[in-house]
Amino acid sequence: MSRPADPDRLAEEILDKYARYVNPGLVKLYRFANVITAEWEAQGVVVRDIHGKEYLDCSGGPAVFTVGHRHPKVVAAVKEQLDRMPMSVRAMPRKPEADLAELLAQITPGDLQYTFFANSGSEANEGAIKLARLATGRANIVGAEGAFHGKTLGALSASGREMYKTPFAPLVPGFTHVPFGDLEAMNRAVDAKTAAVILEPIQGEAGVIIPPDDYLPGVRAICDRAGALMILDEVQTGLGRTGKMFACEHWGVVPDILTTAKALGGGVVPIGAFTGRPHLWKALEKNPYLHSSTFGGNSIACAAGIATIRVLQEERLTERAAEQGAYMLGRLRELQRRHPAMVKDVRGKGLLIGMEFTDPDIVLLITADAMERGVIVFYSLNKPECFRLAPPLIISREQIDRAVEVLDQSIAYAAQMVAEIVEGARSSS
Ligand code: PLP
Repeated sequence: MSRPADPDRLAEEILDKYARYVNPGLVKLYRFANVITAEWEAQGVVVRDIHGKEYLDCSGGPAVFTVGHRHPKVVAAVKEQLDRMPMSVRAMPRKPEADLAELLAQITPGDLQYTFFANSGSEANEGAIKLARLATGRANIVGAEGAFHGKTLGALSASGREMYKTPFAPLVPGFTHVPFGDLEAMNRAVDAKTAAVILEPIQGEAGVIIPPDDYLPGVRAICDRAGALMILDEVQTGLGRTGKMFACEHWGVVPDILTTAKALGGGVVPIGAFTGRPHLWKALEKNPYLHSSTFGGNSIACAAGIATIRVLQEERLTERAAEQGAYMLGRLRELQRRHPAMVKDVRGKGLLIGMEFTDPDIVLLITADAMERGVIVFYSLNKPECFRLAPPLIISREQIDRAVEVLDQSIAYAAQMVAEIVEGARSSS
């Protein structure tokens, strides 16, 4: 595809419009990171900017491009639907929505069966929380510290980082939070008034925190004893990312409601969903419009979802995530050994990997430098000392090696910058 004739001028024009019409704060961030360019095109694991420079996408949205950018089968399915009827008049049932709901019932664990379609991860969680209150007749929701469930008011109330919550107080009442991974604290927090516990099986934005093996089964048991529902937010971990179709399968746990988004649209169309056990839907059966969304279940998004799940299955991408993830984790741990003063920890499951550094500013330096060298990684919203790798599951060994080589250089660069700053401070004092 042809590129703009004068990319430098175009980049400045775009930044100028961001400064005037989107958010000047974003422009400051882009300029700080020396991102004086713009996205142009993408295929597979590679993103190209308006200058024609190539980047390895090791972050993917984050965690959106599980099947890679513009997977041909997802694009073909979306084009086919686009040419026929992309959006719904909502006066008749639609085959794509019916087929995707059936597929989700097949691939989700246990007896999860009914799905409501939304348009984002936040919305999926909003719906799940509403359903929990409706189905149990209880109000309280217990979440985890450090959790990220989205930024709409309900999802934000369930989330666990105060910095994003305090400016919007008062939030939705009835939410409390306990430390993630602490079963005793969970046991104390859940009682006969608890409608649901909401958790990510592996906390993503908190810096890829994997709970102890007895945690999710223990929470399941606590919920069952109290008659509370268990909501698992698999918006980031779902659809193959961690080496299982859903991360809860690592621990054999079946939630009452499971939420998905990000990868479900194949990186082509936004979509979110919550899938629940049949008895919960009785509450929605009486009035199917008690919870609704104009665009939820639209045909073009569902066509993308169907094609994405088929690609995941046909190309055995879940297995691939486990294999490539183990390889990438091993290679990144080599970096930890090479830079022990900078890298505090490397952890992950499948192709969801967190690298924790000794200081958030180091993460900013490294992500900006890696970007200049052609590798995209993102810091974690709820743990800025950490960045996350969530590349497309189709990433090759060679691409992983290239990414590790660049990160090695960027960490060395950050170490040198830190040393220079320390030296400068010493000599001026
Ligand atoms: N839940 C989890 C676990 C997430 O990681 C995110 C986004 O990063 C969300 C919910 C919110 O999704 P969205 O940004 O699509 O609303």
